[in-house]
Amino acid sequence: MEQSTPSVSAGTSDAPIRNFIGGEWVPASATDALEITDPGTGEVLGHVPLSRTGDADAAVQAAADAWPAWRATPPVERARVLFRLKGLLEEKKHELARDLSREHGKNVKETLGEIQRGIENVEHACGIPTLMMGDTLEDVASGIDCETVRQPLGVFVGITPYNFPVMIPLWFWPYAVATGNTFVLKPSEQDPLTHQKIVDLAVEAGLPPGVLNVVHGDKDVTTSLIQHPLVKGVSFVGSSAIARIIYQTAGAAGKRVQALGGAKNHMIVLPDADLDLTTEAIVGSVYGSAGQRCLAGTQIVGIGEAYERIKDRVTAGARSLKVGYGLAEDTFMGPVISGSHRDRVVDFIDAGEREGARVLVDGRGFTVDGYPHGHWVGPTVLDEVDPAMSVGREEIFGPVAGLTAVGSLDEAVDLMHRVEYGNATSIFTTSGRAAREFRYRAGINMMGINIGVAAPMAFFPFGGSRASFFGDLRAQGRDGVAFYTDQRVVISRW
Ligand code: NAD
Repeated sequence: MEQSTPSVSAGTSDAPIRNFIGGEWVPASATDALEITDPGTGEVLGHVPLSRTGDADAAVQAAADAWPAWRATPPVERARVLFRLKGLLEEKKHELARDLSREHGKNVKETLGEIQRGIENVEHACGIPTLMMGDTLEDVASGIDCETVRQPLGVFVGITPYNFPVMIPLWFWPYAVATGNTFVLKPSEQDPLTHQKIVDLAVEAGLPPGVLNVVHGDKDVTTSLIQHPLVKGVSFVGSSAIARIIYQTAGAAGKRVQALGGAKNHMIVLPDADLDLTTEAIVGSVYGSAGQRCLAGTQIVGIGEAYERIKDRVTAGARSLKVGYGLAEDTFMGPVISGSHRDRVVDFIDAGEREGARVLVDGRGFTVDGYPHGHWVGPTVLDEVDPAMSVGREEIFGPVAGLTAVGSLDEAVDLMHRVEYGNATSIFTTSGRAAREFRYRAGINMMGINIGVAAPMAFFPFGGSRASFFGDLRAQGRDGVAFYTDQRVVISRW
């Protein structure tokens, strides 16, 4: 297989970063660019070009041109490229984790965890010769055999959010290319730099030109990509409002779509729960990554006596957290991604207070010594939160816990169902019966039992339900393989 030499990828702080099309880093035709800043210091790290339709067309055409040869490359050879990529990612993961912490803000333990989750998807996709196998049955009728084969479809597009800018692209493109498709990624315009280095590693691993392409920009270029006639399918992750638009627009254009949306995750605590384990899991879930996770538990629902106990412990936990710069050794929680996002989170806290929630711990006006330009919101706890309030039903995506008291598991499940999202939920109990009842009735796709962040690993499907997911095949695992392939059925008589 031919290997191309990587050209320069990284942007400088005054030249826009480049698109990656047909195996080359090329300037976008854009005249406008957005600043990428370190959310802890405000330092400008680069400029992302707002690519236009012509850039999208060039990337899709490069992917379409590369498809026939890549499709004809045996799955075992495609897998070997990913295997080499996995090795390179392992080698570079500490350096990548530091880069990622600078452009996203979360601490290095968290960025290493994110990169590890990404690597696990590359690792899983290395099993494609087995994962892609079809089924055969002899003698479906006398002398007639039937078999299925999984075949790639062509060009897929991925559109990804800012909160996991390395892991989420790796939920998609490794499976797409392992199954023999080619790919165009439109990463988040807020923190696309670390993934640029991963593209270089993929080239070093032997990914041929045109198999993976990257186009930078915002909604305009996204719209051009998802409607392009040569694009067969779209993988999207972002907020629910946009996920719905992508599902409708790409669906109307005849594309296959998986669109993962936002979240409002409930964590239900029973009186018999192990309080130490529960508190640690809840505090980690709410405040990890400054609450910017689709799996962050944000609504803590205490049943009966559990309510007062968990309220005291979560409040103490929130007060004890070390907030600071992501690269500092002792930081638990970093800044949020931008000044406008900080203002949005603060507006939610203001609205919650106006609507009747009690502010037990207040993260508004938070500062960190030595970082006057950081986008800080301190850990916040709101009590007496109800789904009738905006803080009880909308996604805040910041370090804000809402507490609610209920009398029974039935009431807790009903409360959860009054919210339109259905990404993840957790129960904390020592009762197998209560846990079983919860699993049976929750109606939400990702469930934790005594686990605060119920994140499925690479070999299981990742994706929610209700307004948190539009489509039917989710990310990762067998769903990922099915999404990027068509199953043909062959019936033969000789
Ligand atoms: P976002 O919806 O603002 O943006 C996501 C992507 O869509 C970006 O690449 C952006 O450029 C693009 N985009 C924005 N507006 C668009 C439009 N009108 N048309 C087409 N494309 C558009 O999301 P974000 O702020 O980057 O990420 C946070 C959101 O992602 C949260 O809601 C979070 O819950 C969600 N998320 C969900 C999951 C999941 O597994 N369900 C995982 C991670 C993040």
